[in-house]
Amino acid sequence: VNYLSRKQGVTNLNEKDEAKLFRYVYQKLYNHFGPSNWWPADTAFEICVGAILTQGVNWLNVEKAIENLKKEGLLSVYGLNNAEVKVIAGAIKPALYYNQKARKLKDFCSHLVQEHHGDLKDLFAKDSGLVRSELLSLWGIGKETADSILLYAGEHAVFVVDNYTKRLFNRLGVWQEDISYDQMQTRLIKGLPEEVDLFQEYHALIVIHGKNICMANKPKCDICPIKEFCVYHKIHSEGKN
Ligand code: SF4
Repeated sequence: VNYLSRKQGVTNLNEKDEAKLFRYVYQKLYNHFGPSNWWPADTAFEICVGAILTQGVNWLNVEKAIENLKKEGLLSVYGLNNAEVKVIAGAIKPALYYNQKARKLKDFCSHLVQEHHGDLKDLFAKDSGLVRSELLSLWGIGKETADSILLYAGEHAVFVVDNYTKRLFNRLGVWQEDISYDQMQTRLIKGLPEEVDLFQEYHALIVIHGKNICMANKPKCDICPIKEFCVYHKIHSEGKN
């Protein structure tokens, strides 16, 4: 969806002002929603499993699938590595695309066993860029999944971006709607202190805001805590007057 036309609304902030805006938006969202403490999981491994399972589905489905894996004693590196794909698929049915996701989980765990003695800490011990490349080399792990694993399970300071991030800052006039994943990530990391806690919280706040206030259709601008800075809101409220 083209929220703003290519040129209209993009404010061309300089780096310093863009950084200020990123921090301001964070503070406003945090004040409004409070801490989210995302990602909900008992272990770092459970976060990795959740990051793979959440592709294309909402979190409630993931919770059910993880619960099933726990009940069947499969929620461990060796549990998934040793299980047959069809058994894993049966347990994660609520997460949809279960055959593919079962294979992804098994491949991820086989990799951990073969390259890292089944130890996640060993995977995360290297530099962020190297761990990211390694994750991206695995079948079925794209940038958003790799970065979620890195940030929430590995506690590496990488910013996870997604469609909510794209929509929000497009509407605020920061970037155009055809910006790439890497461009969004680079600009956010450049504009913010490189802190794991901040990156974890900021991503979660953007998702909460995108699901509850800044929806794709009919955003609830009237109750939005950052409306005073929003180009989309300005353009649309002017249209109403
Ligand atoms: S004012 Fe409206 S369009 Fe702008 S960020 Fe808030 S909800 Fe989204």
